[in-house]
Amino acid sequence: MAGKKNQLVCAFCGSTPGKERDKFFIPSMYEGLGLCSSCLERAAALCSDRNEKQADKKQKLELVVPDPRSIKEELDRHVIGQEHAKKVLSVAVHNHYKRLTSGADNSDGVEIEKSNVLLLGPTGCGKTLLAQTLAKMLDVPFAIADATTLTEAGYVGEDVENILLRLYQASGNSIERTQIGIIYIDEIDKISRKSENVSITRDVSGEGVQQALLKILEGTVANVPPQGGRKHPNQEFLHIDTRNILFICGGAFVGLDKVIKRRLGKQVLGFKQLVDEEEQKSIAEAEEMQKNPLEFCEPDDLVHFGLIPELIGRLPMLTTLKPLKREDLVRILTEPKNALVKQYEKLLKLENITLKFTPKALEAIADKAIARNTGARGLRAILEEIMLDVMFNAPADNGVRGVCTIDEKAVNKNITPEIKRG
Ligand code: ADP
Repeated sequence: MAGKKNQLVCAFCGSTPGKERDKFFIPSMYEGLGLCSSCLERAAALCSDRNEKQADKKQKLELVVPDPRSIKEELDRHVIGQEHAKKVLSVAVHNHYKRLTSGADNSDGVEIEKSNVLLLGPTGCGKTLLAQTLAKMLDVPFAIADATTLTEAGYVGEDVENILLRLYQASGNSIERTQIGIIYIDEIDKISRKSENVSITRDVSGEGVQQALLKILEGTVANVPPQGGRKHPNQEFLHIDTRNILFICGGAFVGLDKVIKRRLGKQVLGFKQLVDEEEQKSIAEAEEMQKNPLEFCEPDDLVHFGLIPELIGRLPMLTTLKPLKREDLVRILTEPKNALVKQYEKLLKLENITLKFTPKALEAIADKAIARNTGARGLRAILEEIMLDVMFNAPADNGVRGVCTIDEKAVNKNITPEIKRG
């Protein structure tokens, strides 16, 4: 197919130089055969089209986004109570990932903003567990960060980026997966300014951390040192886009109840003076508020507490978790998929022992946890203390079948629980 002597022929379209003046030819390793500039352009266009399609595909990640109802059902399997928080999270997470899988198409001028979440609630009531369960369900990377460590380090920017590094590591070092992960930032209340009218020369550390967090919460391309630690000028950085990372922040907000009560107290007082017939209603509301003031939290209360308004603006979904009651703690011991009692039953079954807890024993364990004031967090330590002797003696007797019943006396340390063999 080669052309005349010393003349190139395009191996793709068969054209020869001469006819079209602006065409040029790239010679190949075969004499007389080359590639003309028209074919080269066509090939380049095909390649770029393919790359674009691939990039598009990456944008529209193959994430299966369950509807809010299914998300809540899955949360119900792991988390006891906290109905309102579960609903808020189900909707927030559904919308967040729907926005993401739709490729964030804003050609119609409507841009769906992401809805980071703020969870208020006492320690050990399920804030971290909720975030963790969501990430597991969606099969996206998950990282937990403690806002207080950011204050301690002093080098604010660096630390905030280390949160992203943790997520990157949890994603198996994939930037794409990191960018759709979930980060839970605990103790967000601890980086508040101590007082609203604080002087500018004092206590600015909390605000500095809030500013740094604000950036990654609202969406930025962060330069993350792959080894963590401080940034070096000559270092290669990971570029992580935080626009599609869902941030869930949580805190106990000790003292916020007073801020809310003060505001509502004032409102109720003013209200009463003006509208008499509404008096009863406002008193009922006030009583309800006394019981669980955090449920009445409004963004302004958080400003009074010491969070900067910009940060609050980036956490538009706000929900309160309730302190766990005795009956909740009993359910936590027995009902979730991975409940502590189920775990002990399984462990002892391996030793051929049937373990039973009496209802009174479960209540006594719950009472102990309430006395420790650490929510459900204390349950594990309490159970471990009770079960220590049983676990120590269980492997004895060469696997002879046995039964062990834990009653409230065993819980209250009046007797040592025994394994009855045979
Ligand atoms: P925090 O609210 O302080 O983030 P966590 O979610 O870390 O509390 O809870 C600590 C542990 O207590 C969890 O690992 C879980 O085992 C248990 N727990 C707390 N709240 C609940 C709940 N509502 N339902 C089931 N387990 C819970």
